[in-house]
This record gives sequence, C-alpha cells and structure tokens, in this order.
Amino acid sequence: MQTSFLRQQQDKLIIEKAPVFEPLDPPCRLLCGPGPCNPHPRVLRALSMQEIGHLDSAFLHIMEEIKILLRYTWQTKNEFTIPVSGTGSAAMEACVCNLLEPGDKFLVGCNGYFGPRLVEMGQRYGASVVSMHKPWGQVFSVEELEENIRKHRPKVLALIHAETSTGACQPLKEAADICHHYDCLLVADTVTSISGVPLHIDQWNIDAAYAGSQKCLSCPPGIAPLTFGPRALEKLRKRRSKVKNWYLDMNLIASYLTSNGNSNRSYHHTAPINMCYGIREALALVAEEGLEQRWSRHERNAMHFWKGLKELGLTCLVPQQYRLPSLTTIQVPPGIRATAVTSHLLEKFGIEIGNGLGELQGKVWRVGLMGYNSREEIVQTLLVALRTALL
Ligand code: PLP
Repeated sequence: MQTSFLRQQQDKLIIEKAPVFEPLDPPCRLLCGPGPCNPHPRVLRALSMQEIGHLDSAFLHIMEEIKILLRYTWQTKNEFTIPVSGTGSAAMEACVCNLLEPGDKFLVGCNGYFGPRLVEMGQRYGASVVSMHKPWGQVFSVEELEENIRKHRPKVLALIHAETSTGACQPLKEAADICHHYDCLLVADTVTSISGVPLHIDQWNIDAAYAGSQKCLSCPPGIAPLTFGPRALEKLRKRRSKVKNWYLDMNLIASYLTSNGNSNRSYHHTAPINMCYGIREALALVAEEGLEQRWSRHERNAMHFWKGLKELGLTCLVPQQYRLPSLTTIQVPPGIRATAVTSHLLEKFGIEIGNGLGELQGKVWRVGLMGYNSREEIVQTLLVALRTALL
C-alpha cells in the first residue's frame, strides 16, 4: 500500500492544540493621540475590498491613481512619488539608505524624538552623522540652519517638519535654498503634517520627503508616502556603492512602480494590495475636500480646542506661531499625575490621548486632531472629557 505524501512528511505535532478564540472584536476607541487616528469609514471599507493581483492591470491603475493623488497632496510634480510598503519609519529609512553613502556627512535637526531616530539610521548606514540640537518644543531659525550647514558642509540635511513628540512645526520654506547654496539635499519628515498643515514640496524646493498614512490621512498604519525630486534622484543615480538595504533600494522598486506601460514592470516584492486600496481612498478624500479646505479645517478645529484648553486653565507647550494644528502638547499642571488623566479618558470615555515621550514624559499630554478626527464635535467631546478628568 502506498503511503500518501502528507503522511510521509508528517511528524507528530509538538503543540497539539491551539486555543479557540472568539472572533476578533477590538474595543471602540476615539483615537486622539499622536496617531494612529480613526480611519475614515470609506477607507475602512476600501481595506476590506476583494483582492486582485499586484501585477493585474487593474491594480497598476490603482497604483497610478495613488501616485497622482500623492503628488497633489504634497504639491509636487516629482515623477518619483510612491507609497512604500511599511510604516513611516520604512520611508524614513528609504531616504537615509538611498541618499547617503558611507562617509557622507549627514546633518540632522534634533528638537524632539524623531531626529535621533534619523541619526541612528544614518550611523547604521555608515554616514558621518552630525546632529544639531534645540530644546524640545522649539524650532531652528534660518540663521541657525545656515550656521550649521556652513560649518559642517553636509551632503544631506534632515528636518522634522511636524515633530509629533513636541507639537512644533519647523518652517521649511527657506531651508532648501540655504541647503542648495551649499550643495546639500534637504529631506523633510512630513509624517504628521501631510494633508493637515500647509506643505509645498516643489515651491519650497524640498528634495525628498516621507510621510505616514495613520495621521492626517486617516488611513491605518502600514503604507508610507515617499517622494524624490530631481536632485535626490541624481544623487541616487551617481552612487558609487549599492544601496545597503535590498527591500528599500529605490532603484529596484522603481522598476516595478514607475515604468511606463505594464509590460516592462518587474516583480520586486508583493505590494500590500489592501493597504494600497486604503491609501488610495484616503487620498481621494483629500482631493474631494480640497487641500486648502483641509488645512483650514485642521486649523479651525485646533483653534477651538486651544481656546477651550485656555478656559480650562491649561497651557500649550509650543507658542502659537509654531504650534501644529494636527498635534497639541498640553502642559500637565503641577500636582496632577499625567498618566492618571490618560487612563481616566481611556477607561471612562474610550478616548485615547498620548502621554509625553522622552524628555517630555510626565510633563505633557499629546492630543491629535488629525484627518477624519479633526471635527468640531470631537473637540467638544475632548474638552468635556478633559474637564471631568481634571476635577
Ligand atoms: N516621524 C514622525 C514625526 C513620526 O511622528 C513618526 C511616528 O509617529 C515617525 C516618523 C515614524 O513613523 P511610524 O511609527 O509610522 O514608523
């Protein structure tokens, strides 16, 4: 008698039984922390739509729509504007590993939690990293940027446009001109600013930028916008060494994502199909609303929130001039335990707000009013919940 292939291969199970869990049912939360925020219902519906193949012409069409919509959202004509498979950190790392070669001088603005992450990445890829520092919550002036660039002569400068750990918005408008004067590229972290704060990649001459999906775009985390302008592409083309990260090598990804026509597209990795549906729908919502209207909505709701905070006797960490509408850091008043308030909001109201990170741990709360969650009724709900927590 012949033994089946399955029997021949079959060893005894080392774990005989798995527990039988109930069907998944996560709790309902209002996500007003530093991200993720609640995805738009249309985005959630898009995520559950039926699968198609990643080389199917219908999918390639969706990918083209994503690129067109991303260019609008970022205000750029950069041909190389793509969704990276992964979270914001993947797109951050894509900038570092593609635009820096071992020994290249890399200047990083550190005024919060995310600059040091860039420093760490730069060091891992062998760049000669120099960091410039400002106290958390402050931003770099044009003079400070120029002084550091003149002194260090970096090949690349990275700045965090919207620092999620502090709620400060770094002005970028003049930074690129200084960079280009000294033959340096400007990379911008726009994870918490994309579609929530005015941002003009081309008019501000930013060479490369990355973002996340889970903040003002109101899509779950897992797909990350990336754009390279002509100077960044030139730096990539002129590399003397291979990009040290295979998965994020944009030369390889370009042959799948950016070739014209379907026939010459080559497989690199399987695109996360449903995450692409999600970001496609999120970006379509940005276009439907209109970018300027969306920026105004974020600002209007943030201003209502700030007014309400003042009435509660609370103060914001960042001066209004540099304060992000998408993320507010509120100073914890003396005598109050920060985590007691965040726990109260979660347990009593199902509302998530963030605790302080790093240097600001225990000193601030972080409240995100991002994308779909930037709404007047959410501002009112938050203020009522905060009032009860502080009583
Ligand atoms: N940069 C900034 C400013 C962020 O706020 C975040 C995440 O919150 C990241 C980078 C990293 O993104 P992710 O956590 O999606 O990998």
